[in-house]
Amino acid sequence: MIYKNPHLDKMNNVFNEISLEDEISIADSSNSSRFWNFFQDITIGFNTNEIDFSKPNSVKHFGEIGWVEHRLFLDTEINAFAFTEEHLNYIGLNVGTIFLIRDSFFSLFATPDFLPNVGDKSKESNTIENFKNNYFENLTAANYNQFIPKCITRKRCADYLTDIAIKFIYFHELSHIKYCHTSYQQQNFRLKRVYEFAHITKNVDQHFDDRSMEIEADSGGMVFTLIYLDYLKTDGILNEFKEYHPYVLWIHTIETLFKLLTPHGHYKDYDSDSHPNNFIRTLNIFEHSIKEGIAMKLIESEEQAVELFETTKNLNEIFRSIGFIPQISDSFEANKELLRQYRLRINELKDNEFKEIYEERDEYLKNEIEEARQNAE
Ligand SMILES: [Zn+2]
Repeated sequence: MIYKNPHLDKMNNVFNEISLEDEISIADSSNSSRFWNFFQDITIGFNTNEIDFSKPNSVKHFGEIGWVEHRLFLDTEINAFAFTEEHLNYIGLNVGTIFLIRDSFFSLFATPDFLPNVGDKSKESNTIENFKNNYFENLTAANYNQFIPKCITRKRCADYLTDIAIKFIYFHELSHIKYCHTSYQQQNFRLKRVYEFAHITKNVDQHFDDRSMEIEADSGGMVFTLIYLDYLKTDGILNEFKEYHPYVLWIHTIETLFKLLTPHGHYKDYDSDSHPNNFIRTLNIFEHSIKEGIAMKLIESEEQAVELFETTKNLNEIFRSIGFIPQISDSFEANKELLRQYRLRINELKDNEFKEIYEERDEYLKNEIEEARQNAE
Protein backbone atom coordinates (compact mmCIF):
# COMPACT_ATOMS: atom_id res chain seq x y z
CA MET A 1 0.00 0.00 0.00
CA ILE A 2 2.36 2.67 -1.26
CA TYR A 3 1.42 5.99 -2.78
CA LYS A 4 4.12 7.94 -4.58
CA ASN A 5 4.30 11.72 -4.76
CA PRO A 6 2.01 12.62 -7.69
CA HIS A 7 3.53 16.12 -7.89
CA LEU A 8 7.06 14.98 -8.62
CA ASP A 9 7.18 16.30 -12.21
CA LYS A 10 5.96 19.67 -11.07
CA MET A 11 8.53 19.76 -8.27
CA ASN A 12 11.32 18.76 -10.64
CA ASN A 13 10.33 21.66 -12.87
CA VAL A 14 10.56 24.08 -9.98
CA PHE A 15 14.03 22.82 -9.06
CA ASN A 16 15.11 23.05 -12.70
CA GLU A 17 13.89 26.63 -12.88
CA ILE A 18 16.01 27.48 -9.83
CA SER A 19 18.98 25.75 -11.38
CA LEU A 20 18.61 27.77 -14.62
CA GLU A 21 17.97 31.01 -12.80
CA ASP A 22 21.04 30.66 -10.56
CA GLU A 23 23.10 28.96 -13.28
CA ILE A 24 24.01 26.18 -10.87
CA SER A 25 23.60 22.50 -11.75
CA ILE A 26 21.75 20.02 -9.64
CA ALA A 27 23.97 17.12 -8.60
CA ASP A 28 23.06 13.76 -10.14
CA SER A 29 24.79 10.48 -10.91
CA SER A 30 26.07 11.78 -14.26
CA ASN A 31 27.74 15.01 -13.15
CA SER A 32 28.76 13.87 -9.64
CA SER A 33 29.51 10.19 -10.19
CA ARG A 34 32.65 10.29 -8.02
CA PHE A 35 30.68 11.48 -5.02
CA TRP A 36 27.28 10.10 -5.83
CA ASN A 37 27.34 7.17 -3.39
CA PHE A 38 28.57 9.40 -0.62
CA PHE A 39 25.75 11.89 -1.30
CA GLN A 40 23.21 9.07 -1.39
CA ASP A 41 24.48 7.59 1.88
CA ILE A 42 24.48 10.86 3.73
CA THR A 43 21.00 11.91 2.60
CA ILE A 44 19.10 8.66 3.23
CA GLY A 45 15.65 9.46 4.56
CA PHE A 46 15.73 13.12 3.55
CA ASN A 47 12.70 13.19 1.23
CA THR A 48 9.05 12.49 1.92
CA ASN A 49 8.19 11.21 -1.55
CA GLU A 50 5.81 8.39 -0.74
CA ILE A 51 3.25 7.35 1.84
CA ASP A 52 3.49 3.76 3.02
CA PHE A 53 0.10 2.83 4.46
CA SER A 54 1.53 -0.31 6.03
CA LYS A 55 3.59 1.92 8.34
CA PRO A 56 1.61 4.14 10.73
CA ASN A 57 4.67 6.35 11.18
CA SER A 58 4.85 7.09 7.48
CA VAL A 59 1.22 8.31 7.46
CA LYS A 60 1.75 10.30 10.66
CA HIS A 61 4.91 11.91 9.35
CA PHE A 62 3.25 12.84 6.06
CA GLY A 63 0.29 14.29 7.95
CA GLU A 64 2.64 16.68 9.75
CA ILE A 65 4.54 18.01 6.79
CA GLY A 66 3.41 16.79 3.35
CA TRP A 67 5.53 16.22 0.27
CA VAL A 68 9.18 17.15 0.62
CA GLU A 69 11.90 16.96 -2.02
CA HIS A 70 15.50 18.02 -1.62
CA ARG A 71 18.17 18.58 -4.25
CA LEU A 72 21.91 19.08 -3.96
CA PHE A 73 23.24 22.07 -5.86
CA LEU A 74 26.77 22.03 -7.27
CA ASP A 75 27.78 25.22 -5.52
CA THR A 76 30.85 25.46 -3.29
CA GLU A 77 29.38 28.24 -1.13
CA ILE A 78 27.97 27.24 2.28
CA ASN A 79 24.22 27.62 2.01
CA ALA A 80 20.87 25.89 2.16
CA PHE A 81 17.30 26.93 1.48
CA ALA A 82 13.75 25.84 2.16
CA PHE A 83 10.47 27.03 0.77
CA THR A 84 6.87 26.02 0.37
CA GLU A 85 4.76 26.68 -2.67
CA GLU A 86 1.20 25.42 -3.13
CA HIS A 87 1.73 23.12 -0.14
CA LEU A 88 4.74 21.45 -1.78
CA ASN A 89 8.01 21.69 0.12
CA TYR A 90 11.43 22.22 -1.39
CA ILE A 91 14.85 22.01 0.26
CA GLY A 92 18.15 22.81 -1.39
CA LEU A 93 21.61 22.07 -0.01
CA ASN A 94 24.83 23.28 -1.59
CA VAL A 95 27.36 20.48 -1.93
CA GLY A 96 29.99 22.91 -0.61
CA THR A 97 28.22 22.75 2.75
CA ILE A 98 28.52 18.98 2.84
CA PHE A 99 32.14 18.90 1.67
CA LEU A 100 33.32 21.68 3.94
CA ILE A 101 31.88 19.92 6.98
CA ARG A 102 33.30 16.53 6.06
CA ASP A 103 36.67 17.94 5.16
CA SER A 104 36.82 19.91 8.41
CA PHE A 105 36.04 16.83 10.51
CA PHE A 106 38.65 14.87 8.52
CA SER A 107 41.31 17.48 9.11
CA LEU A 108 40.38 17.84 12.81
CA PHE A 109 40.57 14.08 13.40
CA ALA A 110 43.87 14.05 11.46
CA THR A 111 45.33 16.01 14.40
CA PRO A 112 46.03 14.20 17.70
CA ASP A 113 44.18 16.98 19.59
CA PHE A 114 40.54 16.58 18.53
CA LEU A 115 38.74 13.91 20.62
CA PRO A 116 42.17 12.42 21.41
CA ASN A 117 40.85 9.17 22.89
CA VAL A 118 39.12 8.06 19.71
CA GLY A 119 41.21 5.37 17.98
CA ASP A 120 44.99 5.77 17.83
CA LYS A 121 45.94 9.44 17.87
CA SER A 122 49.66 8.61 17.67
CA LYS A 123 49.14 7.92 13.96
CA GLU A 124 48.04 11.50 13.34
CA SER A 125 50.42 14.33 12.49
CA ASN A 126 48.21 17.18 11.28
CA THR A 127 48.18 20.40 13.32
CA ILE A 128 45.31 22.63 14.40
CA GLU A 129 47.04 25.47 12.54
CA ASN A 130 46.84 23.39 9.33
CA PHE A 131 43.19 22.71 10.04
CA LYS A 132 42.58 26.45 10.21
CA ASN A 133 44.47 27.25 6.99
CA ASN A 134 42.76 24.38 5.19
CA TYR A 135 39.35 25.60 6.37
CA PHE A 136 39.88 29.10 4.99
CA GLU A 137 41.33 27.75 1.77
CA ASN A 138 38.28 25.53 1.31
CA LEU A 139 35.93 28.50 1.58
CA THR A 140 37.24 29.84 -1.70
CA ALA A 141 39.30 27.17 -3.43
CA ALA A 142 37.43 24.02 -2.36
CA ASN A 143 40.71 22.16 -2.04
CA TYR A 144 39.36 19.12 -0.19
CA ASN A 145 41.00 15.94 1.12
CA GLN A 146 44.38 17.44 2.04
CA PHE A 147 44.26 15.95 5.55
CA ILE A 148 42.65 12.56 6.09
CA PRO A 149 42.95 10.70 9.41
CA LYS A 150 45.41 7.81 9.15
CA CYS A 151 43.73 5.88 11.95
CA ILE A 152 40.72 4.17 10.41
CA THR A 153 38.70 4.48 13.62
CA ARG A 154 39.27 8.24 13.71
CA LYS A 155 38.30 8.49 10.05
CA ARG A 156 35.09 6.59 10.72
CA CYS A 157 34.28 8.83 13.66
CA ALA A 158 34.78 11.86 11.37
CA ASP A 159 32.23 10.32 9.00
CA TYR A 160 29.64 9.83 11.73
CA LEU A 161 30.05 13.32 13.14
CA THR A 162 29.72 14.67 9.58
CA ASP A 163 26.53 12.67 9.24
CA ILE A 164 25.11 14.17 12.42
CA ALA A 165 26.07 17.71 11.34
CA ILE A 166 24.53 17.37 7.84
CA LYS A 167 21.39 15.93 9.38
CA PHE A 168 21.24 18.89 11.74
CA ILE A 169 21.28 21.27 8.74
CA TYR A 170 18.69 19.29 6.80
CA PHE A 171 16.32 18.96 9.75
CA HIS A 172 16.80 22.63 10.60
CA GLU A 173 15.51 23.37 7.07
CA LEU A 174 12.76 20.80 7.43
CA SER A 175 11.71 22.42 10.69
CA HIS A 176 11.29 25.76 8.91
CA ILE A 177 8.75 23.89 6.77
CA LYS A 178 7.19 21.84 9.54
CA TYR A 179 6.58 24.85 11.78
CA CYS A 180 5.06 26.80 8.84
CA HIS A 181 7.86 29.41 8.70
CA THR A 182 8.25 28.91 4.95
CA SER A 183 4.52 29.34 4.28
CA TYR A 184 4.48 32.42 6.47
CA GLN A 185 7.47 33.94 4.65
CA GLN A 186 5.86 33.31 1.29
CA GLN A 187 2.49 34.73 2.28
CA ASN A 188 3.88 37.85 3.88
CA PHE A 189 7.03 38.64 1.98
CA ARG A 190 6.52 36.69 -1.27
CA LEU A 191 9.88 35.11 -0.61
CA LYS A 192 10.32 32.08 -2.75
CA ARG A 193 13.64 30.61 -1.82
CA VAL A 194 14.66 31.51 1.68
CA TYR A 195 18.39 30.98 1.82
CA GLU A 196 19.92 30.68 5.27
CA PHE A 197 22.68 33.12 4.41
CA ALA A 198 21.17 35.91 2.35
CA HIS A 199 20.50 39.40 3.40
CA ILE A 200 16.91 40.50 3.01
CA THR A 201 15.90 43.94 4.18
CA LYS A 202 12.97 43.90 6.54
CA ASN A 203 11.97 46.07 9.47
CA VAL A 204 13.34 45.55 12.97
CA ASP A 205 10.32 43.56 14.20
CA GLN A 206 10.37 41.29 11.19
CA HIS A 207 14.05 40.53 11.69
CA PHE A 208 13.28 39.78 15.33
CA ASP A 209 10.61 37.32 14.18
CA ASP A 210 13.07 35.73 11.76
CA ARG A 211 15.53 35.17 14.57
CA SER A 212 12.78 33.65 16.71
CA MET A 213 11.97 31.23 13.89
CA GLU A 214 15.64 30.26 13.65
CA ILE A 215 15.54 29.30 17.32
CA GLU A 216 12.56 27.03 16.67
CA ALA A 217 14.21 25.49 13.59
CA ASP A 218 17.35 24.79 15.65
CA SER A 219 15.28 23.04 18.31
CA GLY A 220 13.68 20.87 15.61
CA GLY A 221 17.08 20.04 14.10
CA MET A 222 18.41 19.20 17.56
CA VAL A 223 15.63 16.69 18.32
CA PHE A 224 16.29 14.82 15.12
CA THR A 225 20.04 14.61 15.63
CA LEU A 226 19.47 13.15 19.09
CA ILE A 227 17.11 10.54 17.62
CA TYR A 228 19.84 9.68 15.10
CA LEU A 229 22.46 9.56 17.88
CA ASP A 230 20.23 7.21 19.83
CA TYR A 231 19.96 4.96 16.78
CA LEU A 232 23.77 4.95 16.38
CA LYS A 233 24.13 4.06 20.05
CA THR A 234 21.45 1.35 20.11
CA ASP A 235 22.82 -0.21 16.95
CA GLY A 236 26.24 -0.52 18.59
CA ILE A 237 27.86 1.75 16.01
CA LEU A 238 29.25 4.06 18.69
CA ASN A 239 30.92 1.18 20.60
CA GLU A 240 34.03 1.83 18.58
CA PHE A 241 34.29 5.28 20.16
CA LYS A 242 33.22 4.21 23.66
CA GLU A 243 35.92 6.29 25.39
CA TYR A 244 33.40 9.10 24.93
CA HIS A 245 29.79 9.25 26.02
CA PRO A 246 27.51 9.58 22.93
CA TYR A 247 26.28 12.92 24.26
CA VAL A 248 29.88 14.20 24.36
CA LEU A 249 30.36 13.23 20.71
CA TRP A 250 27.14 15.07 19.91
CA ILE A 251 28.24 18.22 21.79
CA HIS A 252 31.51 18.19 19.82
CA THR A 253 29.54 17.95 16.58
CA ILE A 254 27.23 20.86 17.32
CA GLU A 255 29.99 23.10 18.72
CA THR A 256 32.22 22.40 15.74
CA LEU A 257 29.41 22.91 13.24
CA PHE A 258 28.65 26.38 14.57
CA LYS A 259 32.35 27.28 14.55
CA LEU A 260 32.52 26.23 10.91
CA LEU A 261 29.46 28.28 9.98
CA THR A 262 30.84 31.49 11.52
CA PRO A 263 34.28 31.12 13.11
CA HIS A 264 34.46 34.74 14.28
CA GLY A 265 30.73 35.34 14.84
CA HIS A 266 29.86 37.99 17.43
CA TYR A 267 28.04 36.89 20.58
CA LYS A 268 25.74 39.87 20.17
CA ASP A 269 22.56 40.33 18.15
CA TYR A 270 21.97 43.33 15.91
CA ASP A 271 18.57 44.57 14.73
CA SER A 272 19.08 43.50 11.13
CA ASP A 273 20.52 40.04 11.84
CA SER A 274 18.73 37.15 10.19
CA HIS A 275 19.92 34.64 12.82
CA PRO A 276 20.58 34.89 16.55
CA ASN A 277 24.26 34.81 17.46
CA ASN A 278 25.94 31.45 17.93
CA PHE A 279 26.03 31.77 21.70
CA ILE A 280 22.23 32.09 21.84
CA ARG A 281 21.73 29.37 19.26
CA THR A 282 23.93 26.82 20.97
CA LEU A 283 22.57 27.75 24.41
CA ASN A 284 19.05 27.08 23.12
CA ILE A 285 20.10 23.80 21.51
CA PHE A 286 22.00 22.56 24.57
CA GLU A 287 19.33 23.60 27.08
CA HIS A 288 16.64 21.77 25.13
CA SER A 289 18.87 18.79 24.46
CA ILE A 290 19.14 18.02 28.18
CA LYS A 291 15.39 17.53 28.55
CA GLU A 292 15.19 15.65 25.27
CA GLY A 293 18.25 13.50 26.08
CA ILE A 294 16.81 12.49 29.46
CA ALA A 295 13.46 11.59 27.85
CA MET A 296 15.30 9.41 25.32
CA LYS A 297 17.45 7.91 28.10
CA LEU A 298 20.59 9.10 26.31
CA ILE A 299 21.57 10.86 29.53
CA GLU A 300 20.45 10.14 33.07
CA SER A 301 20.04 13.56 34.61
CA GLU A 302 20.74 17.25 34.32
CA GLU A 303 23.71 16.80 36.67
CA GLN A 304 25.20 14.19 34.38
CA ALA A 305 24.69 16.47 31.36
CA VAL A 306 26.53 19.30 33.12
CA GLU A 307 29.36 16.93 34.04
CA LEU A 308 29.64 15.77 30.45
CA PHE A 309 29.74 19.38 29.26
CA GLU A 310 32.66 20.00 31.62
CA THR A 311 34.62 17.32 29.80
CA THR A 312 34.37 19.20 26.47
CA LYS A 313 36.40 22.23 27.58
CA ASN A 314 39.38 21.07 25.56
CA LEU A 315 37.37 21.80 22.41
CA ASN A 316 37.06 25.48 23.32
CA GLU A 317 40.81 25.56 23.86
CA ILE A 318 41.37 24.17 20.37
CA PHE A 319 39.21 26.84 18.74
CA ARG A 320 40.59 29.58 20.94
CA SER A 321 44.14 28.64 19.93
CA ILE A 322 43.38 29.46 16.28
CA GLY A 323 41.31 32.56 16.95
CA PHE A 324 37.89 31.01 16.25
CA ILE A 325 36.38 33.23 18.93
CA PRO A 326 33.81 36.04 18.90
CA GLN A 327 35.16 39.55 18.42
CA ILE A 328 32.31 41.24 20.29
CA SER A 329 30.18 39.70 23.05
CA ASP A 330 27.14 40.72 25.00
CA SER A 331 26.93 39.53 28.59
CA PHE A 332 25.71 36.03 29.36
CA GLU A 333 22.63 37.52 31.07
CA ALA A 334 21.78 39.77 28.11
CA ASN A 335 21.99 36.86 25.68
CA LYS A 336 19.98 34.62 27.97
CA GLU A 337 17.27 37.24 28.27
CA LEU A 338 17.16 37.67 24.50
CA LEU A 339 16.76 33.91 24.07
CA ARG A 340 13.84 34.03 26.48
CA GLN A 341 12.23 36.75 24.35
CA TYR A 342 12.73 34.80 21.11
CA ARG A 343 11.06 31.79 22.70
CA LEU A 344 8.14 33.91 23.89
CA ARG A 345 7.76 35.47 20.45
CA ILE A 346 7.64 32.14 18.66
CA ASN A 347 4.84 30.99 20.95
CA GLU A 348 3.00 34.21 20.25
CA LEU A 349 3.38 33.71 16.49
CA LYS A 350 2.08 30.16 16.79
CA ASP A 351 -0.99 31.33 18.67
CA ASN A 352 -1.71 34.12 16.20
CA GLU A 353 -0.09 34.69 12.81
CA PHE A 354 0.70 31.04 12.14
CA LYS A 355 -2.63 29.66 13.29
CA GLU A 356 -4.51 30.01 10.04
CA ILE A 357 -1.56 28.67 8.07
CA TYR A 358 -1.41 25.55 10.24
CA GLU A 359 -5.16 24.98 9.88
CA GLU A 360 -5.10 25.41 6.14
CA ARG A 361 -2.22 22.97 5.81
CA ASP A 362 -3.90 20.38 8.05
CA GLU A 363 -6.95 20.56 5.83
CA TYR A 364 -4.89 20.15 2.66
CA LEU A 365 -2.92 17.22 4.04
CA LYS A 366 -6.03 15.44 5.28
CA ASN A 367 -7.47 15.58 1.76
CA GLU A 368 -4.17 14.50 0.26
CA ILE A 369 -4.02 11.44 2.56
CA GLU A 370 -7.61 10.57 1.69
CA GLU A 371 -6.81 10.67 -2.00
CA ALA A 372 -3.62 8.70 -1.45
CA ARG A 373 -5.48 6.00 0.48
CA GLN A 374 -7.91 5.52 -2.38
CA ASN A 375 -5.17 5.33 -4.98
CA ALA A 376 -2.40 3.51 -3.10
CA GLU A 377 -1.11 0.32 -4.68
ZN1 LIG B 1 17.18 28.69 9.36
